[in-house]
Amino acid sequence: MTEIAAKLARLHNRIAAAAARSGRIADAVRLVLVTKTVAPDRVREAIHAGQTDLGENKVQEGGKKAEALAGEPVSWSMIGHLQSNKVKDVLKFAAEVQSLDRLSLAAALNKRLQFLGRNLDVLVQVNTSNEASKYGLTPEAVPAFLKELTAFETLRPQGFMTLARFTPDETEVRRCFRVLREIRDRALNDAPQGEALHHLSMGMSGDYETAIEEGATIVRVGQAVFGPRPLPDSHYWPDATSHTG
Ligand SMILES: *Cc1c(COP(=O)(O)O)cnc(C)c1O
Repeated sequence: MTEIAAKLARLHNRIAAAAARSGRIADAVRLVLVTKTVAPDRVREAIHAGQTDLGENKVQEGGKKAEALAGEPVSWSMIGHLQSNKVKDVLKFAAEVQSLDRLSLAAALNKRLQFLGRNLDVLVQVNTSNEASKYGLTPEAVPAFLKELTAFETLRPQGFMTLARFTPDETEVRRCFRVLREIRDRALNDAPQGEALHHLSMGMSGDYETAIEEGATIVRVGQAVFGPRPLPDSHYWPDATSHTG
């Protein structure tokens, strides 16, 4: 077994244990393996160990990697901030966008998807940590946003995504995850999309077990499998202080 396969197996065990602590089966939690900065050959090791669900933060890197791994049985999620002028490129490789955070982006995606004649699963990104540097809607803006999204018929909202505050304070991390869960619970009752909005994408290498305990149905994990990244997280989120799993 390769080191990557061993780390992936260990991650699956921990996901299953955390799911059990929240009264759920392991299959209730989907793992999106985050491959940013990881070379295609190392990603392939994870694929050969059975991983099918991959995530990238940046369009250009994701597009290149998807091309390098063409033919592998994988599905790509866009999890990073998305500029409207990158919509055409992201739709070349991504089957899902988890970082939908504004109407102008929804409109740009919808326009391109209509041209392509396809639909797209999306998650609404929410800023649960109140940090000015984080992307995402404020919690208060979510209900109106969900109503407005119904105008874009190619978009299929499946739920919500967040990044918790990067802090060793587990209480604060948990609070962020609870905010997202409460938004979801309210949307299940009130939003026009109803039951479809079941998913909660929350939890990374440092906090995925807490996220699952709080109800995550999708975790986005990279470093716990591939090791520390060479680039600081500020490359991916303005102002983020470095954090490791
Ligand atoms: C990089 C990234 C992750 C995964 O972070 P790790 O520390 O590698 O687990 C999760 N979500 C987003 C949006 C990311 O950019």
